[in-house]
This record gives sequence, C-alpha cells and structure tokens, in this order.
Amino acid sequence: MNLSLTEEQVMIQDMARKFAETELAPVAAELDETQNQEIFLNNLAQLTELGFMGLNIKAEYGGVEAGSVAFSLAITEIARACASTAVTTSVTNMVAEVIQAIGSEEHKQTYLPKLCSGEYKAGAFCLTESGAGSDPAGMKTTAELDGDEFILNGNKLYITSASFADVFVVWAVTDASAPKGKGISCFLVEASTPGITVSKAEEKMGQKASPTNEVSFSNCRVPKNALMGGENKGFAVAVGELAGGRIGIGSLALGIGLAAMDYAREYIKERKQFNQPLSNFQGLQWKLADRYTELEAARLLLMQAAYTKEQGLPFGKAASMAKLFAAEKANTACYDALQLMGGAGYIKEYPLERLARDVRVTSIYEGTSEIQKVIISRELLKEI
Ligand SMILES: Cc1cc2nc3c(=O)[nH]c(=O)nc-3n(C[C@H](O)[C@H](O)[C@H](O)COP(=O)(O)OP(=O)(O)OC[C@H]3O[C@@H](n4cnc5c(N)ncnc54)[C@H](O)[C@@H]3O)c2cc1C
Repeated sequence: MNLSLTEEQVMIQDMARKFAETELAPVAAELDETQNQEIFLNNLAQLTELGFMGLNIKAEYGGVEAGSVAFSLAITEIARACASTAVTTSVTNMVAEVIQAIGSEEHKQTYLPKLCSGEYKAGAFCLTESGAGSDPAGMKTTAELDGDEFILNGNKLYITSASFADVFVVWAVTDASAPKGKGISCFLVEASTPGITVSKAEEKMGQKASPTNEVSFSNCRVPKNALMGGENKGFAVAVGELAGGRIGIGSLALGIGLAAMDYAREYIKERKQFNQPLSNFQGLQWKLADRYTELEAARLLLMQAAYTKEQGLPFGKAASMAKLFAAEKANTACYDALQLMGGAGYIKEYPLERLARDVRVTSIYEGTSEIQKVIISRELLKEI
C-alpha cells in the first residue's frame, strides 16, 4: 500500500475539513438538541454541491470518481464536526454505489445524476427488519411478481434518512422456497411510490439529527425493471455493499474519536488542579498516548481497506477489521476523553457529552462488533 495521499485526496480532505469547521461544527450541538431538518438538509445540499454524495461514482453519472480512500478521509473530517451529517453522507454514497454496481444502464443514468447533484436529497438502504438485524438473510419482506410488476410487502426497521430520501434500495424475498439467502433480490424504489409509509423518526441516544425510520411496504407495486442485479441474486450484493459501507462507518467513528481526544487534549493543558495543568500528570498523558496511538492504527486499517477496495481486490475482511477496530477504539477514546474532563465532560455545555452519545452506535450499525468478528474469523478459517 502506498501510504502517501495523492494531491486529489489531500484536496478532498482539506475541502471536507474546511466545510466541517465552518458550516457543520457551529450547528452540531443545535442539531443534536433540536433536530432542525431545515439546517440539516441545507448542510447536506451544500455537501452535495461540493461533490461529497458521489465520491465513488463515475464522472459520466455525475460523480467525482475520487475513490474509497478519499471517501474515508472525507467521512472522517465530516464526522469530526457532525456525526449525523457524516452518517447521512456515508449511506447516500453507499446507495449510489449499489446502483452503480448492479443497476441497469437506465437506472444509472436516471438515478445517479440525481443523487450526485442534490436533485434527490438522499438515498436510503433498506435491509434490516425487526426479526432480521444481524441475520438479514432471515428477512420476511416479499416481492411477488404480478405481470409486469413486483408487489412489495413488509417492514424495514431503523432506516437512515428514510424520511427525506427520494430513492430506496430495498431487499426482499423473491423465492421463499430457496435455501436461506438464495431467494433474495434487490429493488430500486422511488420514495413516492404508492404503498410506502415512513414512520416518525425513532428517539435515539445520539446522532439525533439523522432520522432513523421504519419503512412499511403495503402492496407497493414497482415495475419489473426495478429489480437490480438479477432475480434471487440480491443477498450477495447486500453483503458486498455492506463491506464498503463499513469503511464509511469506521471512518465516521474515527472522526468522532479524534474530535473527542482533540478537545480533551486542549482542555487538560488549560485546566489547573493542584496548582498545575492537568496535562502534567503522567496518568493523563498516558491516556493521550494510548488513545491517539489506537486512533492512528484505526486510520491505517481504514486506509488499507479503502486502498484494497480501490484496487478491485477482495476487501471484506479488511473492512470488517477496520470497522471493528475503529468503532471500538473510538468508543474508548470518547469514554476516556470525557473522563479527562471530569465533571465538564458530563455537562452539555461541552461537546464530550454529545460525542460520547454519537459514537456509541458505531459498534452497532452496519454490523455489530460481534458480527465483524464473525466475518473476520470466518475468513481467517477459510484461508487455511
Ligand atoms: C441509528 C441506526 C441506524 C441504522 N441504519 C440502518 C439503515 O440505514 N439500513 C439498515 O438496513 N439498517 C440500519 N440499521 C440497523 C442496524 O444495522 C442493526 O441494528 C444492526 O445490524 C444490529 O441488528 P439488531 O439491532 O437486530 O441486533 P441483533 O441482531 O438482535 O443483535 C443483538 C446482539 O446480539 C449480538 N449477536 C447477534 N448475532 C450474533 C452472533 N451470531 N454472534 C455473536 N453475537 C451476535 C449482536 O452483536 C448484538 O450485540 C440502523 C440501526 C441504527 C441503530
């Protein structure tokens, strides 16, 4: 792996950092408090204008073709300021990548320019159900062929951005008699299609500005050509695309962890107890050393996974390792950063209270840490 960034990657990282510092950081606490969707969507629109919703999408479809490394760098910078904005950006990129990977030429020409230009505010990735979370192949949503249409029925749970997304990628069972995971297909569904109900946003612990909704399909008819990637071939696609998404979520976790440690590091240099700055105490210095070392290791794992993906090589294990490590270490970093600040860490006036809530879900969504270990160990055992 080449460890130095290209000029374009540095430019994208700088652009993301600047936008995050000037536009996202000043409103992140307010968004957490009020979930003001006008401000939130306005920020997303500006990010779209800068090219951040099609980072891995070919120029012919309106994307910037910057690659997975640039995607990882951008998501980290955005998450340093606002995790809610980062997760929305990550998921919309992921939806666009699904369409690019398995959509027909017509799908790509119709939907990708809309996602990349902001004509569509976001995309939503509809996989999870109440009975199918870590085990999505156990899904119950069905898609039944009826003449020239498929009829979708079922409920998807915890869907990021569903309340404002204009297009959904949806997984549903098309052959209930097939072995587990072999009878699932993927559909491209416009949010305005009759038969779709998006419930009100869940009340969450963190990342509150990013809506998470239940999406119900009730006799929702989509044209036959809404099917992407071939009938009953959808589950392998979901597994592959989730691996790419994990680079996004690991990068997001890294951004939150860095924001937490950067804030606490400054704080302990200023704050005095026992007539000296807290940073004089070796016990606290060692927390800095340990946490920054772990975050740097997370960054390298993410870069390796992203680089491997860019090379077109199998990257599932690398993405799971990076997501597992980044999410766990970012959680530890936020916990320790809060502790370094004492009572102030626990008070809403300071950002640690929010960051510690925002980071928690990174070891849960797009596959829990336990599921990353299942994937990694399965791959390790296959290798011998
Ligand atoms: C804020 C938020 C946003 C989300 N956004 C989306 C989205 O946009 N699209 C989407 O499709 N989904 C989304 N999800 C769903 C998310 O991916 C799932 O919540 C996650 O995969 C875990 O599934 P579950 O909640 O059903 O937990 P469960 O599967 O019930 O797991 C419960 C616990 O059991 C453990 N466990 C389960 N199986 C095993 C095993 N084999 N070995 C060891 N431990 C195991 C898990 O690790 C976990 O600790 C989102 C969730 C949240 C909270």
